[in-house]
Amino acid sequence: MCKHVLNVQASIRAPCCKLWFDCAECHADSSDHPLRKTTEMVFGCKKCKKVFRKDMENFEEEDEYCPGCDNKFIVEAKTPQMGLGVEGHDARMGPRFEKDLRTKEDTEKTLFDYDADISDRLG
Ligand SMILES: [Zn+2]
Ligand SMILES: [Zn+2]
Ligand SMILES: [Zn+2]
Repeated sequence: MCKHVLNVQASIRAPCCKLWFDCAECHADSSDHPLRKTTEMVFGCKKCKKVFRKDMENFEEEDEYCPGCDNKFIVEAKTPQMGLGVEGHDARMGPRFEKDLRTKEDTEKTLFDYDADISDRLG
């Protein structure tokens, strides 16, 4: 299941690796290469399982419907509601990030003092 687009109606076949994905992000998640752009996309309808090609350069309104079952497969993507989750995440990350910085500074200071000590002893 695609976790990026909740209402995905048709899978796409990546022209680069010939694998099926629900959306471009799914491809990005499981691939080590960027999704190759193509003017002719291969779709697989999730309703009737029909596989069909669409010329993206001459894409018209009627092309938004599956030729097999007439299901509209080009739909406005419903994405997971991230609002609250992101805010909570940020709030938790903030203080931790500051602490991390302080720890780093302490470490650097210690190292610097240590170096200075050696120089003093050498000099
Ligand atoms: Zn690929
Ligand atoms: Zn996805
Ligand atoms: Zn269909």
